[in-house]
Amino acid sequence: AARLCSGVGGEAEAAGGAGAMLRHLARKLRASGPVTVAEYMREALTNPGQGYYTRRGGVGESGDFITSPEISQVFGELIGIWYISEWMAMGKPSTFQLVELGPGRGTLTEDILRVFKQLSSVLSKCDVSVHLVEVSPKLSEIQAVMLTGGKAQPSPEDESAYMKGISKTGIPIFWYRDIQDVPAGYSFYLAHEFFDALPIHKFQRTEKGWHEVLVDIDPEVPDQLRFVLSPSRTPATQNFIQPEETRDHVEVCPEAGVIVQRLASRIEKDGGAALVADYGHDGTKTDTFRGFRNHKLHDVLSAPGTADLTADVDFSYLRKMAQGKTATLGPIKQREFLKNMGIDLRLQVLLQNSGDTATREQLLHSYDMLMNPEKMGDCFNFFALLPHHRLVHPDKKDKPESKSPLPPVAGFNELLLK
Ligand code: SAH
Repeated sequence: AARLCSGVGGEAEAAGGAGAMLRHLARKLRASGPVTVAEYMREALTNPGQGYYTRRGGVGESGDFITSPEISQVFGELIGIWYISEWMAMGKPSTFQLVELGPGRGTLTEDILRVFKQLSSVLSKCDVSVHLVEVSPKLSEIQAVMLTGGKAQPSPEDESAYMKGISKTGIPIFWYRDIQDVPAGYSFYLAHEFFDALPIHKFQRTEKGWHEVLVDIDPEVPDQLRFVLSPSRTPATQNFIQPEETRDHVEVCPEAGVIVQRLASRIEKDGGAALVADYGHDGTKTDTFRGFRNHKLHDVLSAPGTADLTADVDFSYLRKMAQGKTATLGPIKQREFLKNMGIDLRLQVLLQNSGDTATREQLLHSYDMLMNPEKMGDCFNFFALLPHHRLVHPDKKDKPESKSPLPPVAGFNELLLK
């Protein structure tokens, strides 16, 4: 399993939540028939009352799954360096917004802000602000404690942010429910294990053509859900299956497409870059929809609302949805990206500075988790959206020798900080 998991909340709490969500879904299915997998996933994850992220959002060691920033501080530090390196390569603009989508417990932003603080002499004249896009009230509370020491306040109704505060390092932080609410401006975007949580549609090829996979109530067993195929083509089958498709089963995440379109438009207009890290493939995999609870794989249709539901990110689809408004880089494997960012050197420094054996073992263990191809090293990928001029001089075609070469993009190439 790509997503490594762990457990929070007793079974009793889990069962209570499952009961309410299942009753809600069963009523809906009986009243209006089967729903798409996307609709099911949206309900199970982000229903305002009973959704998994709304109520539990079990990221971290005591949650249902563990993520790279929760495994090692080095992960976030190297990403912080990536942003500084891109900021320098883009001519050190006087202000930027760091915008994170789905920040979980806030650990990644915390580690990035520590790097910004350590490199404050480099960033000294730059006006930095942090903008977090988070739907879960429970997780935004945890983020506020982590990042501001609990000193965040609800924003007035007329402001686009629903909460704001100041980071422990003195940087203003704002919370939003939707990327569209984040003010325009030069921005560095970050999406770590975000796109995999967005609702997918699933399609199956049959002898009679493509059908959408739907979720229905099982007539034989009370309150049990099952997959069925749409009797005919649905609007989604018309829109999302390419005529040249060769696979027999396809998953599409239109919401990811819409968000990437927005990111690409914003970067094209206002400048910046986006870094996306997630498990995924380049348009080759078929059935990847899965659930996690208590560190274990969990049946996606059982006890909805109590387990994390996820699907691999299709990077080829994200690239397509950027629609040429930005350049794209990757996907590149996590172990290659982190190696290029200098993880080996960082590990050596931390090992040298740590006196006790337990800390050294912990450092080596977390390095192995992030880098080992059998663990997270191969299945997680990095992907970036960058303005075209970051990769090719606008006037290169006419006068190839007139400009000094552009600095390589760190992570996708070796890091060169100048
Ligand atoms: N980036 C974090 C957390 C990943 S879990 C980490 O790597 O540890 C997914 C995150 O996305 C959670 O914070 C969840 O609440 C949030 N999320 C899920 N669906 C969302 C949506 N539609 N809009 C905004 N945030 C969402």
